[in-house]
Amino acid sequence: MNGTFRRCLSIALGLFLSALAQIAPGAETTPAAAAATSASGGRVSVAFVGDLMLAETPGREIARGRDPFAPFASLIDSADIRVGNLECVVATIGKPDPKKIYSFRTHPRALKLLQRHFDALALANNHSGDFGPEAFAQMLGLLERHQLGWFGGGSDLASAHAPLIVERNGLRIAFLSYNEYFPRSFEADVDRPGIAWSEDEQVKFDIAAARRQADLVIPFMHWGWENERLANPRQRQLARLMIDAGADAVVGGHPHVTQDIEHYRGKPIIYSLGNFVFDGYDNEANNTGWLFRLQLDRAGVVGWQIFVARIDRRGTPHPAPAEEGLCWQRGDATPRAGALSCSDAM
Ligand SMILES: [Zn+2]
Repeated sequence: MNGTFRRCLSIALGLFLSALAQIAPGAETTPAAAAATSASGGRVSVAFVGDLMLAETPGREIARGRDPFAPFASLIDSADIRVGNLECVVATIGKPDPKKIYSFRTHPRALKLLQRHFDALALANNHSGDFGPEAFAQMLGLLERHQLGWFGGGSDLASAHAPLIVERNGLRIAFLSYNEYFPRSFEADVDRPGIAWSEDEQVKFDIAAARRQADLVIPFMHWGWENERLANPRQRQLARLMIDAGADAVVGGHPHVTQDIEHYRGKPIIYSLGNFVFDGYDNEANNTGWLFRLQLDRAGVVGWQIFVARIDRRGTPHPAPAEEGLCWQRGDATPRAGALSCSDAM
């Protein structure tokens, strides 16, 4: 069976499964959930952070009992849904990819911290496969045991492309994630665990399928050129394609620096959040990241806030003053200075 045919088969299976999911019991809103929706106005906050590299110095800090998320804990943990990009594999097995300069694996002891501060982790990146498919599969089992959600990766191609749907206050939010930075060898296949790769037609198909199961869809991308402060034409084209296909916001990372922000059809595109927990960089741009907080309702993004993180030598992020951040709320033509200057974004 060639790759294209296997992918077509997998798409057909995905379509069948998503049709089944729509008629699955428990999908309807219960009276209790409806009451919760009206009490809270049906609003949900989601916090996104960029690369979490929990090997190297952060791994040693965790082994000593330190929590690299502690300085940011209140800003992360106050969100209804907390999401990060797990830029390493969590495993005890596997061998580093001999073709790569950097291979990142962290000990399962990191899971307790991830569990404390996160609800869901994006796996579609260029490091989650660093120690091979067996280590990746071990990580999936560990995440499941720790009741951590994940997306953009899975035990096979169909599950890597399936959305993670998280429900809060009666709102169902679908998260998808794709990598488009090489190596492509980490990609899942019909019989191999791995990550989701962003082929345009597949991305459109996945977003449409996710929309049938959820109220809102947010892709979390791993893309762009490292150390470039502006998104490249491919990122801009794909972000537009995803919004045209039904995404409510697009969030991204991988360049190890933050990039520009756009609104397209009123929907935010945050091209790169930069690093979050990462050591080994010696300049300010690489040691600056963003916590991106979205306020959502059934119609989409109500507002957003950016809190700036300054990363120290140990790879630990510290919040900069809120005035250094940005915010935006529905109806604004451009973002405002200061993370706390938009009342609707909070
Ligand atoms: Zn990366």
